[in-house]
Amino acid sequence: MGSRTNTHPRCEHCLLHPHLCICADFRPFATRTRLALIWHRIEAVKPTNTGRLALRTLENSESYIRGIQNAPADLSPLEDPERRLLVLYPAPDARVLTQAIIDEDPRPITLAVPDATWTQARRSVNREPALANAEKVIPPPGPPTQYQLRQEHHDDYLATIEAIARAFGVLEGPEAQAELERIFLLMVDRTLQMRNQPPQNPDRPKRKGWMPREEYEAYLREKRAADATAASAASKDD
Ligand SMILES: [Zn+2]
Repeated sequence: MGSRTNTHPRCEHCLLHPHLCICADFRPFATRTRLALIWHRIEAVKPTNTGRLALRTLENSESYIRGIQNAPADLSPLEDPERRLLVLYPAPDARVLTQAIIDEDPRPITLAVPDATWTQARRSVNREPALANAEKVIPPPGPPTQYQLRQEHHDDYLATIEAIARAFGVLEGPEAQAELERIFLLMVDRTLQMRNQPPQNPDRPKRKGWMPREEYEAYLREKRAADATAASAASKDD
């Protein structure tokens, strides 16, 4: 938070400078599908977070915050038997979201979306029984990301809200997708105006946003190799 505490005031809701505020541009959108955003606490306070835009656009949405010490998130509402829970996450068994998948079950859908770095998201999905046991889906393919605000930007990754927009395009139709994408592009545009230059102290690159499955599997392999190297180095120290 350090770099943004002492310069300009910011709108406390959209975190943009007041003259660039997008708060009046939200058009709340009603859907049958419920969005459940599973935030990591660090992500929840970042000005470049896009999940919050989806929460403000989709009337039928809720958020859970993980990663707060001694205050584990209670995800049990996600296990409501009246609703079908899908998790937007590129697990090895994840299926590309299609109308055929929606037609498998008549219950309204809750789409749970981890909004975190991949390490944090993986922990959420593995450690939270509600998420671990749920069906995993990935959004359909589409054009490259339009997110230009973070250093880890990569054409194949999507901002969280872009992945949500694509999923809602299948779940709810093109209007829902268009509305989510509209507010996202507005936020990107205003943020670039606010910076008026490239960020001077970019965060250390972290893999964030939507990652294709092959990339995710490569990431897991790297992570396991790094963990194994660290473990063997530690055992040599003994
Ligand atoms: Zn605002």
